[in-house]
Amino acid sequence: MARKDLATDVLIVGGGLVGAALGIALGQAGVDTIVVDRDDIRVRLDGRSEGRGFAIAYGSRRMLETLGVWRAVARGAEPILEIRVSERASPFFLHYDHRDIGDEPLGHMVEAGTMRTALLTRLAALASVRTIAPARVERLEPGSDGVTARLVDGRAITANLAVAADGRTSRLRGQAGIRLTRRAYGQTAIVCTVGHELPHDGIAHEHFLPAGPFAILPLRGNRASIVWTERADVAPVMMALSDDDFMDELAWRFGDFLGGLELLGRRFAHPLFVQYADRMIAERLALVGDAAHAIHPIAGQGLNMGFRDAAALAELIVAAKWARRDIGGADVLASYQRARRFDDAMMMAATDGLNRLFSNDIGPLKLARGLGLAAVNRIWPLKRLFMRQAMAAGVDLPRLIRGESLHG
Ligand SMILES: Cc1cc2nc3c(=O)[nH]c(=O)nc-3n(C[C@H](O)[C@H](O)[C@H](O)COP(=O)(O)OP(=O)(O)OC[C@H]3O[C@@H](n4cnc5c(N)ncnc54)[C@H](O)[C@@H]3O)c2cc1C
Repeated sequence: MARKDLATDVLIVGGGLVGAALGIALGQAGVDTIVVDRDDIRVRLDGRSEGRGFAIAYGSRRMLETLGVWRAVARGAEPILEIRVSERASPFFLHYDHRDIGDEPLGHMVEAGTMRTALLTRLAALASVRTIAPARVERLEPGSDGVTARLVDGRAITANLAVAADGRTSRLRGQAGIRLTRRAYGQTAIVCTVGHELPHDGIAHEHFLPAGPFAILPLRGNRASIVWTERADVAPVMMALSDDDFMDELAWRFGDFLGGLELLGRRFAHPLFVQYADRMIAERLALVGDAAHAIHPIAGQGLNMGFRDAAALAELIVAAKWARRDIGGADVLASYQRARRFDDAMMMAATDGLNRLFSNDIGPLKLARGLGLAAVNRIWPLKRLFMRQAMAAGVDLPRLIRGESLHG
């Protein structure tokens, strides 16, 4: 069968969570968009292939509401009402309670499958968005009045702007000559879901252990998502254990405050590193999500950052389209980079610093961080600031993150 070449305003390469959210934001505002993903849609709808849960900040929730997906997401979401940060054998701990700043929860835990299904279903319903999958983009050929994407199957797509939403190993980023700065943490995140006897009451726990943070994140029902940071040389040993032996190791770190534990489903191992692209833009190309930056999961902020990238870029594209300006022009791209660089850099520095502070066993540092946590807990305005930050509340935010639509 002869394959037809295609043309569009915006081509999004990568239909992961960030690429899909951007596609919906543009599609809702009537911007002609094509989303290409290398995976079959059925594979992407199979949440079991990830086993991951996401802590969704308040701003991301508002964006999902505006994109018309929050209702579907909320059906599987668990509100986070409190966060308790503790250190083993330390009497000091930091306590965040949503009631300290209002009625809203501090965030929501959402399983990957729930989020993906909600986003991809909404994307498929938009008339101005076409999804092509499975299909792999081989390379981009940018020019002064547009960009052509060559697909591995021989097709070509021309667009005014291409967006690399192709994840942390982004091929498009390297091809555009954008340098990557990367540092491995020597840590691996072991991720799984457990069932427990007693209710979690919407409380998320972060225990700081010598190998790194051990997070217990509340899911619907008596279940929790575990993100267990382990030394990179120890993690394979844990992953090779039988389910029973693995659960003995997990239970020792988890504690017994929620009664008996049961492993639900598979376990996954993610090597951890921080990386960032030296630029978020190139000729007719913008990077969003993990293609631009990948951070330590210590504060559960990677996807939230990616959503803020998508919100900022969509806002600029829609404004340019309405003003009949070139949506892939250098001024639009420069504005996007300016809008996102500071927030991304701050979040990267914060998560990197937190992990360094807590993933070691040095005596004086131990005391300092114990005092630090206790002090932050007592200094009310500082704590409030931390919480507002975690909830993505603030004035200098993209419109979608403030819950405002782009098409009205
Ligand atoms: C252990 C762990 C826990 C985490 N917990 C949280 C959390 O609680 N909260 C949070 O906000 N974040 C969290 N994160 C971060 C979050 O998972 C990522 O930031 C997010 O999934 C990135 O989404 P993305 O769409 O940018 O990239 P991806 O999800 O990697 O999507 C990239 C897509 O591009 C496609 N693709 C790639 N190359 C091509 C090509 N050449 N052609 C076509 N398609 C292509 C792929 O098939 C894929 O669908 C966590 C991360 C880890 C490792």
